[in-house]
Amino acid sequence: MSGDAYTSLNLADHVGDDPEAVRVNRARAAAGLGVAETDLVVMRATHGRDAHLVAGPGDPESGDILLTRTPGIGVAALAADCVPFALLDPDAGVVAAVHAGWRGVAQDTAGAAVEAMVGLGARPDRIVAHLGPAVCPGCYEVSEEVRGEVSAAAPEAWAVTGRGTPAVDLHAGVRCQLARAGVTAVTADTRCCVESADLYSFRRDGVTGRHGILARLPERP
Ligand SMILES: [Zn+2]
Repeated sequence: MSGDAYTSLNLADHVGDDPEAVRVNRARAAAGLGVAETDLVVMRATHGRDAHLVAGPGDPESGDILLTRTPGIGVAALAADCVPFALLDPDAGVVAAVHAGWRGVAQDTAGAAVEAMVGLGARPDRIVAHLGPAVCPGCYEVSEEVRGEVSAAAPEAWAVTGRGTPAVDLHAGVRCQLARAGVTAVTADTRCCVESADLYSFRRDGVTGRHGILARLPERP
């Protein structure tokens, strides 16, 4: 179990937490997902739109889209303010873990993820998506320039903070880009990372852990 700034199942090994504590946390997360500890592949996000197919442990972890069609393999996207989300086409047997912050929305990482799944046999109208918690627009102040860049890629992401300053709505941006790619079965955890003490927030705390979303293929009957 991690301590101090990482008290709630931190899954990231790049944020200064004790490596052994992170290993234990990842093992607990893997057990919760129903995969072996060594079969949980945790993403190292790079704020891009590259997709990587994971077939087993040791495969590339860098990039913002990790896909698998291998039963028993788990993929995880970590975040603390950005949106971690999962996409699944159960019929095609393809699942993805994706990470998108404002740069990800500006680059249509969600669209790239759907495209990568389609390349593996998925159909957008069969894909179900779940968005993990992110910073809410009311708390996510950005520069006018960043808001302009993001809303050029996803108009629905244009937002203002509670104080009336420029902001970005990451969930709205990802939903808009998923819809454009043909994915409309979307559920979301709408808690705000900044306002929820049990979630990690880089905005709120600076030095902090990462929560995440974990995904694997459903068991075949
Ligand atoms: Zn908020």
